[in-house]
Amino acid sequence: MNLEEKNNYPQNICKKDSKEGLVLINTGNGKGKTTAALGLALRAAGHNFKVLILQFIKAPYYRTGEAKIMEKLKPLIEIEQLGRGFIKFKNGKPELTKEEIDNAIESFKYAREKIYSSKYDMVILDEINNLIDYGLLKVEDVLDLIKNKPKELCIVLTGRNARRELIDIADTVTEMKEIKHASSKGVKARKGIEY
Ligand code: ATP
Ligand code: MG
Repeated sequence: MNLEEKNNYPQNICKKDSKEGLVLINTGNGKGKTTAALGLALRAAGHNFKVLILQFIKAPYYRTGEAKIMEKLKPLIEIEQLGRGFIKFKNGKPELTKEEIDNAIESFKYAREKIYSSKYDMVILDEINNLIDYGLLKVEDVLDLIKNKPKELCIVLTGRNARRELIDIADTVTEMKEIKHASSKGVKARKGIEY
């Protein structure tokens, strides 16, 4: 993103008071979107914030390092995988099954209930941008959820191709940019690095 594009995004549309929870987005094609969000969860939990991490697309059987370690940090941090695993692509387009469509609707409903429960100080919606990008969630529904969130709740959205409408209402938006990635020279996903 160049400076001109950056300046086209609205800044400080309205002032937020110090108690109002921020909305953060980690997007872009480089590595680090999810791991940066996990870092935030740790930082917030260090101050006794109650954190909920909901991982879309990722399935419980993945047993990622973050899922294993965060389970030990209960009740400060709760983590759940709501998805059914990687979505298949054909000619650059997602090949969506009925199960994936139903799962996205159910997962979002669950996220909404958790957010409106007002039990949390920070909720991370990991990979939610991808669900919107694949047409599995409507951006309007996510906007509506954010606009009606409990005032003090901080929300973090991750995933590639964050929609402009979400970037506009977010407070902090970071684009991870790939300079190089080991996968391009055939290095397979590594334990402790990728999962
Ligand atoms: P991470 O979970 O490591 O912070 P991410 O959230 O930025 O990565 P995703 O787009 O969610 O990345 O990708 C999911 C998986 O693909 C992760 O295992 C991640 O490490 C890996 N990955 C991330 N960026 C790239 C890339 N540019 N090329 C290949 N694989 C990548
Ligand atoms: Mg990710």
